[in-house]
Amino acid sequence: MKSGNSPDLGMISFSAYLSKEMGFDSVANLLLNSKVNLMASQEQVIETLRKVNYPGYTRDIVSFGLVRDITIRDEEVEVLLEVSSQQTDVPGKIKVAVEEAVSSLDKVKQVNVIVSVKSSETPGANGTSAAPEPTPLDGVEHIIAVASGKGGVGKSTFVCNLACATEQLLREEGRGSEKVGIMDCDIFGPSVPLMMGAHARPEVENQMIHPIVSHGVKIMSMGFLIDEDTPVIWRGPMVMKAIQQFAQNVEWGEVDFMFVDLPPGTGDAQISLTQTLPLDGALIVTTPQTAAYTVARRGAGLFEKVDVDILGVAENMSFLRLPDGEKQYVFGQGGGEKVADALESELLGQIPLDTFVREGGDRGIPHVVSNPEGEIAQVFRNIARKIVEDVRN
Ligand code: ADP
Repeated sequence: MKSGNSPDLGMISFSAYLSKEMGFDSVANLLLNSKVNLMASQEQVIETLRKVNYPGYTRDIVSFGLVRDITIRDEEVEVLLEVSSQQTDVPGKIKVAVEEAVSSLDKVKQVNVIVSVKSSETPGANGTSAAPEPTPLDGVEHIIAVASGKGGVGKSTFVCNLACATEQLLREEGRGSEKVGIMDCDIFGPSVPLMMGAHARPEVENQMIHPIVSHGVKIMSMGFLIDEDTPVIWRGPMVMKAIQQFAQNVEWGEVDFMFVDLPPGTGDAQISLTQTLPLDGALIVTTPQTAAYTVARRGAGLFEKVDVDILGVAENMSFLRLPDGEKQYVFGQGGGEKVADALESELLGQIPLDTFVREGGDRGIPHVVSNPEGEIAQVFRNIARKIVEDVRN
């Protein structure tokens, strides 16, 4: 979807663009002010589309990622949708529902809905219809994305410890082991196999890949599939296909909670993921620098756009515990709180900068596993508990 400030979105966006980006204040503001009250806004149209459900589903077409573009010119609104379905009546039903919904808006006189139908090879559960993307994963109850605005904040470390903490909680509950999964989609640095000590190569049986199990957690990683020597430039295009394969060709079995380690940023991988997997929510990992705020906020923006809940914010490397028990705020203070406030979400916990956490990652034994009774493990379990409760309710 085009951003509200791009110059090719019609009069309102162009005026705003002139005004904001180029300093043509007086002319642009005049244009903007005279038009703004006569036209529907992008936000109004999106909010309206959020009320249109995919036929036969309780989920709306925005969160399914069907809306590709919205153009507003005076009282005319054009909506571009991409639908993937083998049921021939579905595109027509969606078109009518969108026309009805958008034309009910004040200031809209004409609605053009263009539906591009993508052929789908994935038959739906009943074999007759193709489900829209995202498609639920057989046996996987809840899927949670773990994201950060930039690399190096400890997102993968977090995913591994959080997955192990969740595994411990589910075992305490009597759910048994291997009910937690990690899908490592960080193509640029797939570090989960190393951090979880999962070095075997996954077996393939009847065209289905078996995840590797380590510390009671099922793991599938780009690291199992791509050669370390694969140039980064080739990895981008691979991620779409890989995520689809992780979703469709991995024998996950029964999994209560799946954590997805996303590459940092807001690129193709994140968009592809939100369109492929039915996410229950996203956890944002950040560091305490207030400078990290902007990037973390941007990382989270993607999920807001596709209507995925932000479950909370976790702050990593929050402080260093000195031998006398004092806390030293090596990376400053307040970043996590600030991101959580901006997202109207909660700061779920703070993990200190700690040698054992780093060593745990390097040794392939997450700190939560090697020192389950320690203070840091308790914080990870508290974060895991909040996420589990939130997602289940
Ligand atoms: P990302 O996935 O965000 O790129 P990683 O999880 O790979 O980040 O972490 C980057 C480096 O920081 C790794 O060497 C990891 O061991 C280290 N690290 C992460 N969290 C902590 C922490 N709380 N204390 C000490 N080192 C950490």
